[in-house]
Amino acid sequence: MGQCIYCREEKDEQDFTLEHVIPQFLGGANAPDFFKTRDVCKSCNNNLGLFVDASFEKNWMVSNWLRQSSSAFYDKDKPVGVSLICMGNSDLRPPEIFDDHICEIWLGPNGEQVFWIRPHDKRMSSYVGGNPRTMKSTETRAYFLFSENTQNDPLKTWLSFEQAFNGRRVKKILCAEVQGVDPTSIGFTPPDDLDRARQEFFLTNTLDGLDRKMQITIDPNFDQRFMCKLAIGVAYCLFGPKVLHTTYGNELHKGLWHRDGNKEPEIRGTVLFSNASDPVFNQLVGFPSAVTLGIHSSPAGVAINLNICSQLNWTILCAPNEILTESNLTQIDEGLILVLVRAINTGIYLDLPSFLSHKTGANSHPALKAIEERLEKNTN
Ligand SMILES: [Zn+2]
Repeated sequence: MGQCIYCREEKDEQDFTLEHVIPQFLGGANAPDFFKTRDVCKSCNNNLGLFVDASFEKNWMVSNWLRQSSSAFYDKDKPVGVSLICMGNSDLRPPEIFDDHICEIWLGPNGEQVFWIRPHDKRMSSYVGGNPRTMKSTETRAYFLFSENTQNDPLKTWLSFEQAFNGRRVKKILCAEVQGVDPTSIGFTPPDDLDRARQEFFLTNTLDGLDRKMQITIDPNFDQRFMCKLAIGVAYCLFGPKVLHTTYGNELHKGLWHRDGNKEPEIRGTVLFSNASDPVFNQLVGFPSAVTLGIHSSPAGVAINLNICSQLNWTILCAPNEILTESNLTQIDEGLILVLVRAINTGIYLDLPSFLSHKTGANSHPALKAIEERLEKNTN
């Protein structure tokens, strides 16, 4: 028997599984091993991954900044597909679209347009790409259009089209003929009569696509449950089980399982849409085109700071001072930071003073310098 750190239920040993406390979409696979735990039950690993992690990852801003990161490290010598950018729901009504379906527009790496017709799930309208669970089982259709710029790097487009909508049941239709290449080899389906009518529709309606009306739904609380989960996981990995059943640990637990209408948990920190976040601080603790996770002492206790591409920033208290020992605080010392770049499988864990001294130019850190050089190679 053991207790799951997220749901707190007692379960049998075979009900537990390996959990990356820092999720893989943030590059957590490259984090040091002590950020992995086996004290999470399979049900939480699965459900919280699908709904709490996905609510965060599929938020429009987070998903597009993570995509910017993968694109910034694109290596022309080893081309791979990049994720499409979601532009939101359009006002387009292509032939025979159901009333409860929407036409979502996505952009390819060279400005290609992709029109994905899918069911509209109001409850999950702020998830880029819809409800992750139904999208695995419901068959939908997406129409792919090339742009003038496709010819600059057709392989990148082709590879990106190939990996687009992986893991979802999407029938992919190419709205153009390509000489000498067979689109079915990368997952496209030949068009039927309905597809041909829609190809015609998209080709005539969307060449001036940029002035289309687009709608994006953002849930202002998309990040709260996720940040509570991250705080519980990181605190547990750093300080062990004593962090769970404390007054503050109970508030984080409430935050993780929060439902609309419940009493708001008393979490200390800043969410994304908070006026308390300081742009100078964000720049300082962030790293260009990378994810950083900072761990530092504050007057209230140990806090973590999550930053994406020096653009998006969250801070949350994960363990209050009253439960920490002298040796816990020595472990954190002047702060620690993890720099993650998923696109190049890199994770660098260092102390905060060395990181800041690199950022301010006082003392260059070789591994961080190597990331910056990779980035520069791409911008030149
Ligand atoms: Zn659980």
